[in-house]
Amino acid sequence: MSEKATSPMFARVALIGIGLINSSLARVLRRDGLAGHIAICARTRATLDKAMALGLADSATIDPGVAVQDADLVVIGTPLGAYADVAQNMASNLKAGCIVTDVGSVKEAVIRTVAPHLPQGVHLVPAHPVAGTEHSGPEAGFAELFENRWCIITPPAGTDPAAVERVVELWRHAGMKIQMMEAERHDKVLAITSHVPHLIAYTIVGTATDLEGDLRDEVIKFSAGGFRDFTRIAASDPTMWRDIFLTNKEAVLEMLGRFSEDLIALRRAIRRDEGQTLYDVFSRTRQIRRGVIDAQQHIPPKSPKNNAG
Ligand code: NAP
Repeated sequence: MSEKATSPMFARVALIGIGLINSSLARVLRRDGLAGHIAICARTRATLDKAMALGLADSATIDPGVAVQDADLVVIGTPLGAYADVAQNMASNLKAGCIVTDVGSVKEAVIRTVAPHLPQGVHLVPAHPVAGTEHSGPEAGFAELFENRWCIITPPAGTDPAAVERVVELWRHAGMKIQMMEAERHDKVLAITSHVPHLIAYTIVGTATDLEGDLRDEVIKFSAGGFRDFTRIAASDPTMWRDIFLTNKEAVLEMLGRFSEDLIALRRAIRRDEGQTLYDVFSRTRQIRRGVIDAQQHIPPKSPKNNAG
């Protein structure tokens, strides 16, 4: 959906953090006229200045408490490690009826960290738009980032259904498909589909970096043989990913345990010349790729600046 709304869906929206995700959302809010006023908050003035120069907001502050004043919708889009401070600083200024949502990549920890700070009458509707690139900051955002991707919404039991519906409607405007899920399940699914793959990329690029001089140079030269894709993933923001691993510790460790067992099994198959075992595993994984293509999840997001996924 991308038509301009006749009257804004939210009179006042506060975006806490104005990086890749929240700046992309700001562009959607602007494009579709969904917010009467957009207030933004970041850690530094430099980021706020960039976002204001891009025309993404009507007001800017480094104080989350000021940003959320009178807001109908608050979207937390900072690294997960900042959530506790943000929640604490904004809590007493949230008005009754306000919806607090977020875009974080881990969901149980959000509920654990944010919910205790929220006053009565404020609705917490955690969400994760599963869309991104390896770029950061307000300049990296683009409105089309979310198109045809999934947004997973994980409201705690007893959340006001009307508040959930408004968050659903917001992400539908951004072109997303919606999936409701329990936070714990979300964290397990994302551990294997996103978090462990990033850890593997960080590891393999780290291993290559530690190779002795000549060998390392050849790795860069011949990177098109598969390594290149790992380097793109391993270029993702270090703060964001540090926080993801620390906040989704249990699910990541569980999935990493399973992965390590499977890796050892493949290592053994290679050592023992068990070609059939290798062939069977690789045939099964090929089917998974077909499933991803059928689900239209193989296409990287369109962007004027990059086409990374
Ligand atoms: P980003 O581009 O690195 O931007 C982070 C923003 O948060 C910056 O504006 C930063 O301000 C601000 N910030 C940091 N600490 C803050 C604090 N204490 N108070 C207020 N603002 C603060 O991040 P992103 O990629 O948009 O990711 C944001 C969230 O979205 C993360 O929780 C991540 O897990 C989730 N997510 C990311 C992706 C992805 O692919 N990138 C995809 C889905 C979900 P300064 O610039 O001033 O430091």
